[in-house]
Parts: sequence; C-alpha cells; structure tokens
Amino acid sequence: MPALALDGEMFTPDSPGYDAIRRPVNPAFRDVRPRLVVLCRSVSDVVSALTYATATGERLAPRGGGHCFAGRSSTDGILLDLSGLDGVSVADDGVARIGAGARLHQVYAALHARGSTLPAGCGPTVGIAGLTLGGGIGLLGRKHGLTCDRLVGAQVVLADGTVVDCDQDRQPDLFWALRGAGGGQFGVVTSLRFDTVPEPLTTRVEAHWSGVALEGLVAAWQAWAPDAPDELTANLTLESEPGAPVRATLFGGATLEEGPTRELLRELTDRAFELRAGLPYHRLKQTFADLDPPDLPERAQRTRSEFFSRGLSDRTLASLVSQFGAARTGGRRQLTFTAMGGAYNRVAEDATAFAHRGERFLLEHIGDPADPWVDRSWATAHADGSGRVYPNFPDPALDDWAAAYHAGNYPRLVAVKNAYDPHRFFDFPQAI
Ligand SMILES: Cc1cc2nc3c(=O)[nH]c(=O)nc-3n(C[C@H](O)[C@H](O)[C@H](O)COP(=O)(O)OP(=O)(O)OC[C@H]3O[C@@H](n4cnc5c(N)ncnc54)[C@H](O)[C@@H]3O)c2cc1C
Repeated sequence: MPALALDGEMFTPDSPGYDAIRRPVNPAFRDVRPRLVVLCRSVSDVVSALTYATATGERLAPRGGGHCFAGRSSTDGILLDLSGLDGVSVADDGVARIGAGARLHQVYAALHARGSTLPAGCGPTVGIAGLTLGGGIGLLGRKHGLTCDRLVGAQVVLADGTVVDCDQDRQPDLFWALRGAGGGQFGVVTSLRFDTVPEPLTTRVEAHWSGVALEGLVAAWQAWAPDAPDELTANLTLESEPGAPVRATLFGGATLEEGPTRELLRELTDRAFELRAGLPYHRLKQTFADLDPPDLPERAQRTRSEFFSRGLSDRTLASLVSQFGAARTGGRRQLTFTAMGGAYNRVAEDATAFAHRGERFLLEHIGDPADPWVDRSWATAHADGSGRVYPNFPDPALDDWAAAYHAGNYPRLVAVKNAYDPHRFFDFPQAI
C-alpha cells in the first residue's frame, strides 16, 4: 500500500480541526464523516491522494467550495480538500490562472487588482472549480456568457495519477467535457485558465414590493427580462413566510449608467427602483451578499429547478402563485427567476458540454426539506418547462437526469468518461 506523503495536511476523526475542515456548506450533509481529509497544498498531493485511494479502494470526493446541493463533495471515504490550491495570477495577455480551491471572493478581489474580472456567480464562498465545471451563471452572464465559456485551459489529475493539461488543442475532448458537465466526473482539476474581461463599472438595481399582483409581475418579467439588452440582468425573487405578505424582490446589475438603466426598467414597471451607479463589478457582488441564499445557511433547504425556453402560461402561473402563498405551518418558501438569453445563448449547444443554450430563464423552488410544496410547485411549473436542469443545481428526484442535465451532449460525455475514467473511480448517483 502506498504511503501518503504530503506537502499539505491529513485529518482523521481524532485530529484537532477535523470537524471544522470536514463540514460542507450545505447543512444537509454536515453529519457526513470522512475517514480521512487530505488538505492539498500541491499538485503532487492530489496525485498522492488519488494513487493512495485507487490502491486502497477507498471512495474519494474532491471539494472546492463545498456548496454542492447533492452532497457530492462529502464522503465517508477520503475527502480531497483543494482549498490550499487557491492562487490567482494574471498574465499580461489577460489570461488568469486560478487554483481549483479558490473561492469567488478571492477570485474577484485578485482580478480587480488587475482591472479585470470574470462572468461568475454571486455566493462569495462558492468554489471557482465547482461553479465552472457545471457552467457558471452570474450578473455578467447575459453579456459575457457562462464562466465556463471563458475557460481556455485546465490541469487535471486523472484517477491513475496522470497529470494532463487540456485546452482547445491538447486533450480537446476532455477540455470540452469540463465546460459544463458538472464537477467530479473525469478527474480532479488542479488549476483553471480563463480569458478574463475588463472589470466594468455597474449600476446596481434593487426593488422590493409587497402587495403586488404576483401573476402580473411574473408575466411582465418573463416577457421582458430574457430579451432585455445584454447590459442588463434583472432577476426576480418571490418570498413567502407564514403570516407575512408575499414579498417580491427585483435585483440585478447593468453595465450602463443610471439614466439608461432607469429607462430600461421602466419597460417592466413604473414602480420605484433603488439604483446605485459607479460600482466596480466586484463591489456590486459584495452588496448582494445579503440578498443571496445565505452563504453559510444554518438550516437545510431543498431546491428544485428547471430551465424554461418559453414563458409560463396564464394557467400555470395562476396555480404556481396560489400554491406559493397558500396557508401552512412550514418555513420560508422562495421562487427565484433568473434571466438567461443574451450571450448564454450565442454558443452552439454542442460547442461545450453545457447544452442549455436556448433557454429564457431558470426557475428555482426553494423551501424547507419537509415542505411538500417544493415538489408540488416544481411539478406545476414543469408543465411548461423545457425539461432541462442546470448541472450545478443537481436534483436527486429527477427521472431522466441524463437528458435533463446533458440533453444531446450525453453520448459524447459518455465517450469522454470511458476514455478518461474507464474504471468509474469518480462515481456518484447521476454521474455520467
Ligand atoms: C449559496 C450558494 C450560492 C450559489 N450561487 C450561484 C451562482 O450565483 N451562480 C451559479 O451558477 N451557481 C451558484 N450556486 C451553485 C454552485 O455553482 C454549485 O453548488 C457549485 O457546484 C459549487 O461549487 P463548489 O466548488 O463550491 O462546491 P463543491 O461541493 O466543492 O463541488 C461541487 C462539485 O464539483 C466537484 N468538484 C469540486 N472541485 C473539483 C475539482 N477541483 N475537480 C473536480 N471536481 C471538483 C465536487 O466533487 C462536486 O461534485 C450557488 C450555490 C450556493 C449554495
């Protein structure tokens, strides 16, 4: 059996610090206890851990930011924590090399110092690797596409310990598959290279309403937000708590000044908006920390979601809204509508592994795990859905998950899996 010599550290259940390092962000998986946690500080640590795991037959789960909805970065075997590989450097040509353990707040701050940024997500502790491998939706996405659309190369350690560099010319099938199939499928990514964009100045958009006619608001949003100019992203969240009126929040950002942003918003409604102009993009992200799903939630939540390539019909919308506010004793419910369109859809479905290039919006149903509303609400909206699901929002309840996550790209993904992980070392429910 190989010895495990590391530049980083190892934690067993008896080690000081074991509990702090093993716990993922999602409370639903906080009781999963790995036999061993390997905190990697070098690529050779990743190679050693994989060699050790394959020789001993131990299960291994890579972890970046630890946000996986389905608990795929938690295991009772070996937890491979990549947070020690979090360097960010930017070359003169604007290409950023980012360690696979970096979190988004580190990425935005380091890129800001170079006047650049990436279209990426909002949660500050979300990992750049998990986000990119499944796509990467964020407030600059309608203008610059998914985070994975900016990926130009990656270094990956395969199950047998081989280190490969992939890009458009080297190992092109692996490079294709890393852009949107979801994390943990083919190997452990140790670093990612991105073509960054200049960091724009933005105008922050926020509005809160209660007592509005929700059907009318959603109908107006779904007809408008996905077709707005690429410079504006405006997402809509409805929140319902027992005993309180339903609250609607419209939030987003524009790479426009205040005047033109206000004019565009008037196409949606003449209600008041709070606008704050002149914010560099990384600051805009920080100001939304309080509107995001809590980044380190204390209570487990259940999320189901789907993409929509057409609007919800009047009938579907009426039942969605009436179920949402219906009286009950359970906890908070949330419906979140995220605008797609724009640059997301100007990429062919088979150009990257991310297949969902004709969608207008993404709808999430978020609630207490014990609240049957989540399934009911999802099923109601599903009547008008495209049947497609964002690989970064994995949903164990899906019937045909391969079609939902990967659509027509699934056969090519299976071929890449067979070529790069023929013994299915990287495996979990719904893995390719
Ligand atoms: C609070 C919160 C906010 C979010 N905000 C956004 C958002 O704005 N936009 C958006 O698109 N998504 C968002 N998401 C979803 C997010 O993109 C996914 O949860 C993503 O998979 C998280 O990546 P991670 O590295 O943090 O998670 P992890 O749980 O560490 O990883 C996710 C998956 O990738 C695998 N993986 C991780 N690192 C590697 C690696 N180096 N090599 C190979 N496989 C790896 C893991 O094994 C696991 O299967 C959010 C989620 C949460 C909980």
